[in-house]
Amino acid sequence: MLHDSFGRQFAYLRLSITEVCNFSCQYCLPNGYRKKAGPGFLRVDEIARLVRAFADLGTWKVRITGGEPSVRKDFIPIIETVAATPGVRRLATTTNGYRLKENAHIWRAAGLDAINVSIDSLRADVFHKVTGHDRLAAVQGGVEACLEAGYEAVKINAVLLKGVNDQDLDLFLDYVKTRPVSLRFIELMRTGDNADYFARYHVPARVVSDVLERGGWVRKTRDAGAGPAVEYVHADYAGSIGLIAPYSKDFCKSCNRLRTSAMGKLHLCLFAEMGMDLRPFLQDDAQINKLKEFLLKSLKTKKISHFLNDKITGGNHRFADIGG
Ligand code: SAM
Ligand code: SF4
Repeated sequence: MLHDSFGRQFAYLRLSITEVCNFSCQYCLPNGYRKKAGPGFLRVDEIARLVRAFADLGTWKVRITGGEPSVRKDFIPIIETVAATPGVRRLATTTNGYRLKENAHIWRAAGLDAINVSIDSLRADVFHKVTGHDRLAAVQGGVEACLEAGYEAVKINAVLLKGVNDQDLDLFLDYVKTRPVSLRFIELMRTGDNADYFARYHVPARVVSDVLERGGWVRKTRDAGAGPAVEYVHADYAGSIGLIAPYSKDFCKSCNRLRTSAMGKLHLCLFAEMGMDLRPFLQDDAQINKLKEFLLKSLKTKKISHFLNDKITGGNHRFADIGG
């Protein structure tokens, strides 16, 4: 089992497969994706070896992320490969929903169990402004397609943005009234590139928890091994609300995830100084034991927390590069 020096166990891998994205979210890639020179993103055979090593060390949950994972032409073979890895029991992805409506059933059949769809606003003009794309209706259609396709969990991610969506809680609550989705509000995080945006738009998750608690929402007790999200439920609502509040005290205590970038670097934290290159260990099946030894050794250097409250963002310039 992968564990660190602080007693935390890591059975969850967030696997980035691309830095490319077709959206230009203001807080992530405001100028869109710009191609960089250098080696390409991990190939399917490299991904297969990477996930096998993690699964051998106890990882049972994998989330495919990016950039926008669905822009990869081999996204379906990647889903099939990860889903077929012995030990992987739950395979999820996070997507901007661009290609979701027509693909929800296909990805489910390929082996995807759960899906997170990013929707920062339920108002079409605001969605357009934040993402650069006038596609709210299509993305919402994708969520409906996921509900029909029988995913084990359908979640919606909304980054909380002051003056953009923090006054729209009623719209979001209405949305989960009849839909069995978990809507997760994510506190905007500062990165190397978005300092000015962060200063203008960051709003603490407390604004949501205050409204929820006044409205009769009840905080769910945490399952053992649950990650840092705090979940709220309400008897009158089919869906639930999650809060991800990275600036809150003790957020890192429940850290249960590791990340690998699309270039094959291990990131012990979203805000670690730099990634550790795993790619040299991914070229041949015979290297798997060396890779596992490297992972076990690297975990000992994981720090107790991020240092976001000191405005230290490490090597994270934008989430699209590491995988949010
Ligand atoms: N492109 C996909 C998407 O947007 O769902 C997957 C990758 S994206 C980097 C993963 C998640 O990170 C999205 O929900 C996005 O809103 C969130 N995210 C990106 N930058 C962020 C930031 N600075 N603070 C908080 N969340 C952020
Ligand atoms: Fe693309 Fe996701 Fe970043 Fe938006 S948050 S720019 S959809 S990677």
